[in-house]
Amino acid sequence: MDISVVIPLYNEEESLPELHRRLSEVLPGAGSCEIIFVDDGSTDGSLGVLERLFREDPRVVVVSFRRNRGKSAALAAGFEKAKGKSVVTMDADLQDDPSEIPNMIAKLNEYDLVSGWKFPRKDPLSKRLPSKAINWLTARLTGVRIHDMNCGLKAYKNEVVKGLSIYGEQHRFIPALAFANGFRVGEVKVHHHPRRFGHTKFGAKRFLEGIFDLLTVLFITRYIKKPLHFFGIPGLVLLLAGGLTLVYLAAGWLMGRWIGGRPLFTLAVLLVILGIQFISTGLLGEMLTSLSHTRKEDDGNIKKTLNRS
Ligand code: UDP
Ligand code: MG
Repeated sequence: MDISVVIPLYNEEESLPELHRRLSEVLPGAGSCEIIFVDDGSTDGSLGVLERLFREDPRVVVVSFRRNRGKSAALAAGFEKAKGKSVVTMDADLQDDPSEIPNMIAKLNEYDLVSGWKFPRKDPLSKRLPSKAINWLTARLTGVRIHDMNCGLKAYKNEVVKGLSIYGEQHRFIPALAFANGFRVGEVKVHHHPRRFGHTKFGAKRFLEGIFDLLTVLFITRYIKKPLHFFGIPGLVLLLAGGLTLVYLAAGWLMGRWIGGRPLFTLAVLLVILGIQFISTGLLGEMLTSLSHTRKEDDGNIKKTLNRS
């Protein structure tokens, strides 16, 4: 199997027939290619359309969720099924152009993950501006220098998707997660089209949530294996500040100054308690990490072994 195309969809019945037709024009025949539609609990006629496509085209694979679980869960289900050497993801709403697929797969010679860069982007300004800001911030903080983190159209080597475990809204940060796993990430400009049918499934609150997701991703990529380093440093700083203040107060007390009613005393105690809490949280994190850490994860990071036996 050469290519697996993974398409998450939620209530996109009008777009599906044309999407399938246009995919058929660029994809090779059954045997070297599969099209995995992941129906994310659609409540319209999407599943009916997919069943028909399944009967007509041997390349079609359908996974259907009982209820809506979000784009990340849908992608994860598709990734698990994908057998192709190259895996391509795209949105189902015809905003992504299937004709870009061969070009993106060709780029996998250079990179492990190739992300689309919607250029020029055909979305309202209200969506483009905040998205630009989040993309800029994400690129700075994660070190992945690409312009468009959350383009639905992406191509991956199979081992990249097998090493991803995305949930919540993390699909927006896949390049950053793959980069943290040591994969080479690149981008190519792709054509983008306005939405023709239905409406966007993500409202304005996506940007607020985006901030939290970014925080989660930063934590996951940098500290998941060493939570004490994340919590320990602020913990130590607080503890030290509180401790020194207490020493200062104690010195004053020895010279006859009453401590009891001083605001500084309350502050010092608060700092010490907070510091201990931070450090304990970090230690709890370390316990969770050591319990959940498996050898398999380390093996997943091995690119090559040269071995005689
Ligand atoms: N989608 C999904 N589950 C959801 C929301 C969206 O599978 O809960 C799919 C949707 O059907 C589409 C893709 O994810 O194929 C991108 O969604 P959308 O076009 O609404 O996002 P936008 O283009 O506005 O960023
Ligand atoms: Mg869309």
